[in-house]
Amino acid sequence: MNKKNVLAVIGGGASGLIAGITAKRIIKDNGRVVIFERMDRIGKKILATGNGRCNFTNMNTSVSDFYGKNPDFVKYALQKFNVYDTLDFFEELGIYPKEEDNGKMYPYSDQASSVLDVMRNELQRLNIEIVTGFDVKVINKNKNGFRIISFSEEEINASKVIIAMGGCASPNLGSNGSGFTVLKSLGHTITKLNPALVQMKTKENIVKGLKGIKFMGNVKIIAKGEIVGEEYGEVLFTDYGLSGPPIFQLSAVSAINKDCAVLLDFMPELSEKDVFDILSERKKRLTGLTMEDFFVGLFNKRIGNVIAKKSGIEKLSFNVSNLNRETIWSMAENIKGLYFDIIGQNGWNNAQVTSGGASTREFNDKTMESLKVNGLYASGEVFDIFGRCGGFNLQWAWSSGTLAGKSAAKSFLEGLK
Ligand SMILES: Cc1cc2nc3c(=O)[nH]c(=O)nc-3n(C[C@H](O)[C@H](O)[C@H](O)COP(=O)(O)OP(=O)(O)OC[C@H]3O[C@@H](n4cnc5c(N)ncnc54)[C@H](O)[C@@H]3O)c2cc1C
Repeated sequence: MNKKNVLAVIGGGASGLIAGITAKRIIKDNGRVVIFERMDRIGKKILATGNGRCNFTNMNTSVSDFYGKNPDFVKYALQKFNVYDTLDFFEELGIYPKEEDNGKMYPYSDQASSVLDVMRNELQRLNIEIVTGFDVKVINKNKNGFRIISFSEEEINASKVIIAMGGCASPNLGSNGSGFTVLKSLGHTITKLNPALVQMKTKENIVKGLKGIKFMGNVKIIAKGEIVGEEYGEVLFTDYGLSGPPIFQLSAVSAINKDCAVLLDFMPELSEKDVFDILSERKKRLTGLTMEDFFVGLFNKRIGNVIAKKSGIEKLSFNVSNLNRETIWSMAENIKGLYFDIIGQNGWNNAQVTSGGASTREFNDKTMESLKVNGLYASGEVFDIFGRCGGFNLQWAWSSGTLAGKSAAKSFLEGLK
């Protein structure tokens, strides 16, 4: 390796790649920017984002889209590199953006690989060095900077280090929580870690009978009798419980609150009384049919069967004309709030992000530099920050990555004087 000073980026994911590009654009030929990646290729997670389409930002991004012990930490970084800066950055590299529902932005190509490809081109153009298969075990601080040591005992010195090692979610795509180990050994606090943006497991085994069914509805999370979260969107029944964007969105809330339940509202635009009236009218019209057919045309038949059962109708051969007022109210109640106990979440392998991480109180929000170790910076998911589903997590990776890259590069150049 040549003798020039090194600015090291640990982790070749979204935030590490943009941090490296930003840093090298500032450092130019005055030093080396080297990205160390434990996998055999950089950007594996980017390829999996947005179901392979990469929902790379969201037009409606604001601080309220982020969670963590101190979500305000994102404010400055989001101002300094906002959604329009993200769009400009990628458009300049060749990504023509398109907007979908709720402000979600995708590359026009519908290919996550385009996002990685254009970043790779830029890395190459800037002569940024990429060392794959370098699995960082430990980073030691010394008087000249840092000594980075891999699991296979390779060592390298760097004057500045950016930790962009991600969290624990989807370890098959690279990030396995080692960023937390490294930061802890450098004196940082790691808050409680939980899988987030993940499916929920429910107690009732009736969901098994609904496996594969999707519906648009409202989802509420109830803990200690209070509504602690609410989202609207497409819900999917699975053999273990529930999936879909609103479930992902609420998974963090349900992980934090113990003993909670989920309420599914199949007709969110109507009141319980409206639903009661609709069902009463159906009873009149569908006299002569059995409960097997009562919900046909209103809901998927299997959902109808579950609602009937939950409302005390044991047999689907029950004649519609025998429905009494009380049972119709009970059905209306279940349609407006079908109840399931939550018994947990799917684990790290299925999670999109990590709830918890490096305490943001120990980093400068204006620079992303550690308040404990000079010259050490961090970006992305390794922080105790995660966003809602919809492009917010990548926006955080881009915003925090550029800020870390810029600050580290400036300080790198000052160190050369
Ligand atoms: C399936 C899936 C779909 C998603 N879809 C979206 C989406 O559409 N929109 C959105 O906004 N967000 C999405 N996310 C979330 C988003 O991808 C992440 O929040 C974001 O990639 C985090 O970026 P990062 O750079 O901080 O971490 P990562 O992308 O996880 O990158 C960390 C990198 O560090 C490397 N690394 C880790 N440890 C070491 C080590 N010891 N030594 C060397 N290298 C190491 C890893 O291999 C990895 O390449 C999705 C996540 C998943 C799992």
